[in-house]
Amino acid sequence: MSILVVGSVAYDTIETPREKRDRQLGGSASYFTVAARGRVPVRCVGVVGEDFRQEDLDLIAASGGDVSGIRRENGPSFHWSGRYHADMIERDTLATELGVFADFRPEIPANWADDEYLFLANIHPALQLQVLEAMNGPRLTALDTMNLWIETTPDDLRAVLAKVDVLLVNDSEARQLSGRRSLVHAAAAIREMGPARVIVKKGEHGALFFGRDGVLAVPAIILDDVIDPTGAGDCFAGGFMASLAAAGADRDSDDAPFRQAMIEGTVTASFCPEGFNVEGLLRTDDEAYAARRRVLLDMMTP
Ligand code: AMP
Repeated sequence: MSILVVGSVAYDTIETPREKRDRQLGGSASYFTVAARGRVPVRCVGVVGEDFRQEDLDLIAASGGDVSGIRRENGPSFHWSGRYHADMIERDTLATELGVFADFRPEIPANWADDEYLFLANIHPALQLQVLEAMNGPRLTALDTMNLWIETTPDDLRAVLAKVDVLLVNDSEARQLSGRRSLVHAAAAIREMGPARVIVKKGEHGALFFGRDGVLAVPAIILDDVIDPTGAGDCFAGGFMASLAAAGADRDSDDAPFRQAMIEGTVTASFCPEGFNVEGLLRTDDEAYAARRRVLLDMMTP
């Protein structure tokens, strides 16, 4: 079992009320891969520029990611910069510099097209579709997107959405994509667009799973200290997909492995805001995961 992920491999400059960090490891595919923490092999398809440090690729590889599908091109790496408000939830995007990402045409290395699980992390939906069509029929496909693509490339997004099994979006994106205010109605409208299962992420309020057989609401684990929440959504996806792949689930499975994957995604995502970039994730071990899983299940038990 392996997961193929295509997404950004980036440098992020993050400002919080307490601290600023320049050009540190970021990107949707990087967070996803580190979050899966080698539970199943993850193969990464992406692009970096000349400035990308080998030690950052090594870090992704040490987390269980095969980075041989990340090409190095002439030019600067994708760079995203954001500033968090005092609440550490709201953030302003200060810069999105595409660099080598502007001409990125994903290429799937030979024999990776047979991978059973596909995660289309947040990139241009036309590229997501290209990757989906290059695969030899994965057992399960999931997609993440963002307001930028909902606003600027709605037709491309609709085309890829029609072909995926699971969509992960945050609440404002679900409303924007569907044009419906109620999240129940939004999820129903999105399911009409293609994905049989929809996950609506609500940041510090947890996540909702709209499955084939019902709904599951999972709270977010309450954290003592939030250092940098960037990438928490991608980490959720990493934990979620790794759990599904480890269980051998597919699109025809009942909701049970997906509901379990919601727990794993929530536990995984909870480590992300506890450090800058992937530092919070790297500080954890199996024991910390098990302890946090117990905390979460206690939170869900009357
Ligand atoms: P999240 O906090 O889950 O929204 O993910 C933040 C990550 O997404 C950062 O590491 C960024 O490098 C990456 N990112 C931001 N904007 C884009 C974009 N337009 N395309 C791809 N990745 C992006």
